[in-house]
Amino acid sequence: MKPARGGPDVAHVVGARPNFMKAAPVVAALGTAGIEQVLIHTGQHYDEALSRVFFDELALPEPDRYLGVGSGTQAVQTAALLTALEGVLADTAPTLTLVYGDVNSTMAAALVASKAGLASGHVEAGLRSFDRSMPEEINRVVTDALADIHFVTTTDAIANLAKEGASADSIHFVGNPMIDTLLLMRDRFVGRPIGRELGLPERYAVVTLHRPGNVDDPQRATEIVNSLVRVANDLHLVIPLHPRGRAKLTALGLTDWSSIDVTEPLGYLDFMSLVADATAVITDSGGVQEETTVLGIPCITVRPNTERAVTITHGTNRLTEPEDLDKAVAAAISEPPSQTTHGPPPLWDGGAGPRIGRIVQRWIDR
Ligand code: UDP
Repeated sequence: MKPARGGPDVAHVVGARPNFMKAAPVVAALGTAGIEQVLIHTGQHYDEALSRVFFDELALPEPDRYLGVGSGTQAVQTAALLTALEGVLADTAPTLTLVYGDVNSTMAAALVASKAGLASGHVEAGLRSFDRSMPEEINRVVTDALADIHFVTTTDAIANLAKEGASADSIHFVGNPMIDTLLLMRDRFVGRPIGRELGLPERYAVVTLHRPGNVDDPQRATEIVNSLVRVANDLHLVIPLHPRGRAKLTALGLTDWSSIDVTEPLGYLDFMSLVADATAVITDSGGVQEETTVLGIPCITVRPNTERAVTITHGTNRLTEPEDLDKAVAAAISEPPSQTTHGPPPLWDGGAGPRIGRIVQRWIDR
């Protein structure tokens, strides 16, 4: 793919919560390098709790373009994203479009850029759960098939991309920009009063739940809620519940949360503060598996698979099915974190943003 000329060097396309903490260190590094950049926010997530708070806390610049796409079914949202992004990317004509993670905005931006003859780079390329029932897995595969540059967080991602035919010179092992944000913000989130404000006891687990595979299927959602209620007999649970999870669980009549603290989704600093002080974390989130790996907090992932294998081999993460959740939580807490022997995964060291910046600079200068 030939770089376009005339527009800014780089357009970042972000749209949903997990994009913001990945983009922030890249935006900062490109700014330091004097690379001309614009930020396009699709509005896939649009409210205070899932979007605004991250711009404030992570010092992301105000988006240059805001597309207001909003929510919808997979097809409705993807169609709206494609339509909105086509005009904006054509007007902007960036030399390189950077996309992040695995949300619908990521895949839509890669597709629009590719069809417009614009180059794209994928940050967090090559992760694979090998489970195409996950909408995110389809987004990963499509985005990587179209991207001109693949920035990978782990070495297994290099092998995944190679198997799918990505050329070796498109793949750059740069580390994990989400962990750049964690390390940068650590001093600001450690010791915040959020636990006290929520009245949490000393020992508690943080729970997050929002994957379609867990909350859309009534039987599985019911099993998960029942197993959480069992865990809550022994360990206090707090759930900053994603609107997606809340809507689905409420629609199923699963509102008996008396033994569990349910809060609104938290801002980054409050959320990470709770995680850093937690006895354990129960999750189906991708990012949370990585964050607990670096913080050394036992993590129990309620999924049959993970695209983040390194969080199991180098981290504190384990997979479980709902019926085994209570046993998995007990085992995770009683066994010492494997991270003490392995350390964090290679290059999860706070330097991913600058590494991406240097590669982007070379690519633009070609
Ligand atoms: N997060 C947050 N507040 C919350 C829950 C999560 O700030 O209440 C952050 C946290 O850093 C997490 C990230 O949002 O890693 C992405 O979470 P999400 O589960 O939405 O996305 P995924 O990583 O599963 O794509």
